[in-house]
Amino acid sequence: MKPCPKCQVELDGYALRCKSCGHELTKAELYPSAELFHEKGTISSADSLSVPEKSTLDSSTIARKLSGRYSDAYTEAHVVVSAGGIIKGIGGILAVIILIGGGEIGHKIGVGAGLSIGLGFALSCIVSIPIYVLGILVSSQGQTQLAVLDTAINSSRLLQDDDVAKILSKRFSL
Ligand SMILES: [Zn+2]
Repeated sequence: MKPCPKCQVELDGYALRCKSCGHELTKAELYPSAELFHEKGTISSADSLSVPEKSTLDSSTIARKLSGRYSDAYTEAHVVVSAGGIIKGIGGILAVIILIGGGEIGHKIGVGAGLSIGLGFALSCIVSIPIYVLGILVSSQGQTQLAVLDTAINSSRLLQDDDVAKILSKRFSL
């Protein structure tokens, strides 16, 4: 999979030493991406996510901080999803009101029944469709946040299985 740094013979992915020249792979050669991670320093500017080599935080403190952060993020994502639902609801209610109102107006100004319904329907679409689409966009934004959080939590190296379970139980009880 990767060449030996000394003699360039192809080594398989799990090799600790080169079978051709006997070169023992260093940590940096074994885990180039991990090395890169340390050089770059932090994943995020947020203190709870940056874990220095000699961390003064123990793992339970980190897990607690992360749990709090993820719980807050889930709450926010749920609020966004609900807001989208409310906007869609408003679009739907407006559609009905305008449909009826448009029909009434058509009736009052004395155009035919067909034209009145047509007028109500046209006005209703013009006003409510953009609102409804906005609602869909807002709630899908929230759904995307939820999906991103699920992935982040499940792939976190700093959280234990029971931390993940705790966070997820909050996520689904909201
Ligand atoms: Zn070699």
